Amino acid sequence: MFDAFELRGEFFEGLVAIDEAIVARAAEEPCRDCGGPLHRGDYPRKPRGGHLAAAAESFDRRFSLCCGREGCRHRATPPSVRFLGRRVYIGAVVILASAIALTAMTASAIVRATGVPARTTRRWSRWWQGPFTTTSPFVDLSARLVPAPERRRLPVSLLHRLAVDPSVAITKLLAWLAPITTTSSRDGSRWLRAAM
Ligand SMILES: [Zn+2]
Repeated sequence: MFDAFELRGEFFEGLVAIDEAIVARAAEEPCRDCGGPLHRGDYPRKPRGGHLAAAAESFDRRFSLCCGREGCRHRATPPSVRFLGRRVYIGAVVILASAIALTAMTASAIVRATGVPARTTRRWSRWWQGPFTTTSPFVDLSARLVPAPERRRLPVSLLHRLAVDPSVAITKLLAWLAPITTTSSRDGSRWLRAAM
């Protein structure tokens, strides 16, 4: 079972290192539109960590790339293990708070433990058990895990299968999810495999 615990600095330093490696690999490739060089063009984010990841509120930049050729300026944002798409909470909180929400008895207990509003964790639960199950990360993971993880218990049923240590399991799940964290890089999983 997943109890509330605070994800600390060392955990996030690991995620920053992975994101740095991914953006470095992505920058080695030319612009998809014009073949020009890609330069760093990070953009600001103000993520929330709730009670679980206050340290993550210092993540103020989403690593991104921008074509250097005049007239193109195409943006390419590689996958991330920190930011899960446009959600304001960082990915690790989306995972951990959703896991806690599955095991906590009451809505108020979930809010006390996570610092995330109840309607938000309910929305995440619907995502894990619905749209998430049609994504390529879930399909690929399910194909490797026998028996397949129980859908009603997502994301806990996946975390238990990825690692015994909760923070290691969360990092592994973030890496699996990374390809769906951006729509502006095709097949970002290549860079991720290189970075892990
Ligand atoms: Zn370009």
